[in-house]
Amino acid sequence: SDLSRKPPLTVRLCEPRGFCAGVDRAIQIVVLALKKYGAPVYVRHEIVHNRYVVEGLKNMGAVFVEELDDVPADGQPVVFSAHGVPKSVPAAAEARQLLYLDATCPLVSKVHKQAMRHVRLGRHVLLIGHRGHPEVIGTMGQLPEGTVSLIETEADVATFVPPEGMELGFVTQTTLSVEDTAGIIAALQAKFPTLQHPSTESICYATTNRQDAVKAAAPGADLFLIVGAPNSSNSRRLVEVAERAGAQASALVEGAKDIPWEGIVAGGTIAVSAGASAPEVLVDELFSAFRERFDVRIELTRTAEENERFLVMRDLRDLPLTVD
Ligand code: SF4
Repeated sequence: SDLSRKPPLTVRLCEPRGFCAGVDRAIQIVVLALKKYGAPVYVRHEIVHNRYVVEGLKNMGAVFVEELDDVPADGQPVVFSAHGVPKSVPAAAEARQLLYLDATCPLVSKVHKQAMRHVRLGRHVLLIGHRGHPEVIGTMGQLPEGTVSLIETEADVATFVPPEGMELGFVTQTTLSVEDTAGIIAALQAKFPTLQHPSTESICYATTNRQDAVKAAAPGADLFLIVGAPNSSNSRRLVEVAERAGAQASALVEGAKDIPWEGIVAGGTIAVSAGASAPEVLVDELFSAFRERFDVRIELTRTAEENERFLVMRDLRDLPLTVD
């Protein structure tokens, strides 16, 4: 017998996975700004929640800062992250005459508009999302003080007391679990029958598609690995969705170094996907590691085709596109 033969392993690979159009656009904005203005280009917060991406941009000359106050007025631009920012941030940039490029995903901006529409129509806004997440901070920061309340769980619905005599309208974070959110909305509707929907869905196409593919690949998998960062909301939701949909176990991994080998057995079946902020090179790295130990057979679990692309702002679009 051939002793050098590796044991078999089936890997279900989800499609769509990884980068969404909003993340891709945000990264392009930083890269193109570096090309147009030279280094440094300041970036407020992690442009997207992925260390690999952030390190790559740092090497190109991006300088990451926590707050706008940390940006010197040296004529170089500052980029706002894909998650969106409170209105106070561009306002402060204007007051200091800083050049800024807003990389907020158009689908996050759409949620901002829906929330503002509720307020315009005299409604108190319920934002369904996770406290402290930059997108939640950004969305709340679109609205006048006292016009929005955060709802994180069904338990929050039970204890929420609305302002007297106000109609209620809701929006959600773009990266939530589709199922958890449906549960919270149902609980809100049961308690407040006149609750108003936003006029378009807040959870974005990329979130929905990635969760659908994970649901399809999960049943019977010994282990489901999601490539993503610990602070990536959409990646963490994929880990939960995988287990709920029938994977024996699931784990978030930042790269091959995190693979829990004890959960991978010869002849077994595992599944892999990646969050919207995880670059494909990290998925490749996982497969290289699998192939060192196993004879890998890939099964593609494909549940949707994605053609979304979001253009960068005109100022940057006119540059010759020789960026890779
Ligand atoms: Fe935009 Fe959705 Fe990607 Fe967030 S996850 S950047 S909302 S496309």
